Amino acid sequence: MTVVCLGELLIDFVAQETGKLVGDVSGFQKAAGGAPANVAVAVRRLGHDSAFLGQVGDDPFGHYLVDVLHADGVNVDGLRFSSVARTALAFVSLAENGERSFVFYRHPSADMLYQPQDIDKKVLSSAKIFHFGSITLITEPSRTATLQAAQIARQNGALISYDPNLRLALWDSPESAKQGMLLGMGYADIVKVSEEELVFLVGKEDVAPLFDANPNLKLILITRGANGSAVYNRAGKIADHKGYTVQAVDTTGAGDSFMAGVLVGILEHGDDYEAHFGNILAFANAVGAITTTGRGAIPSLPNRDQVRAFITKMG
Ligand code: ADP
Repeated sequence: MTVVCLGELLIDFVAQETGKLVGDVSGFQKAAGGAPANVAVAVRRLGHDSAFLGQVGDDPFGHYLVDVLHADGVNVDGLRFSSVARTALAFVSLAENGERSFVFYRHPSADMLYQPQDIDKKVLSSAKIFHFGSITLITEPSRTATLQAAQIARQNGALISYDPNLRLALWDSPESAKQGMLLGMGYADIVKVSEEELVFLVGKEDVAPLFDANPNLKLILITRGANGSAVYNRAGKIADHKGYTVQAVDTTGAGDSFMAGVLVGILEHGDDYEAHFGNILAFANAVGAITTTGRGAIPSLPNRDQVRAFITKMG
């Protein structure tokens, strides 16, 4: 498998009405969620092999999620079923002030109980790129399992990609969120952060402290929502792209699909990928922008032809 993603796989129950808090909503739409899983599906749609490592509950939601990944051809040989914990659920609504309100059912959920001995070494050894996020870094045993998988993948010669997500509600405190999100950087070659996450982690929009603290780190990608993205190496900014103007409907999964676009770009440019980052960002921003034009993450992830047609149209 070319890209192996490890992390949480859950059900998002998305409110059918906006402007209400989760407790006041009358109905919810079921959707597959989990950032690393979105990346695995997006990579497949863009034409490369991918696999997912993680754990769901041995319950109808867990089996539904496996079917969703399977439908896109994501390898699920390394996906485990827990007999002691349920699949994670997140109920999400858009409150009146435009903020999302979340209620999580993870006390604990199956993804949190993923252990080092659950890592499928065969699947992992096939990775050219290993990708992980910060949700499985929140508690043990999934924290150790995630970091161990990253270490093994590095020893196997894979490129390590990390996308920390700011989800303060899942951590004990903002400080533990910061420390936990930073922890993953020590294991990564490539990191993606939004502008907001960078300011949260560093205190200002400056990538230098992250490079200084993490000797393995080669590239940092910064996403800027509708304003596109930029990429830095230790010497400074190597490329940026202003993004595309689209009618955004739901930005869920935009960062994940952007990341998949970057990983696919890296795979296709070989060892010389740094020199091609202008093109890679133009491609990845297109993948991200298209994802915002439909509801839900996985249903809106584009295939290769859609990305090609979009770039041609946008010029
Ligand atoms: P995250 O989802 O991680 O917070 P962003 O919201 O910055 O990340 O989005 C990731 C990428 O998706 C952006 O760099 C951009 O390419 C694309 N994108 C996101 N929102 C929009 C938008 N409103 N219009 C066009 N492109 C967008």
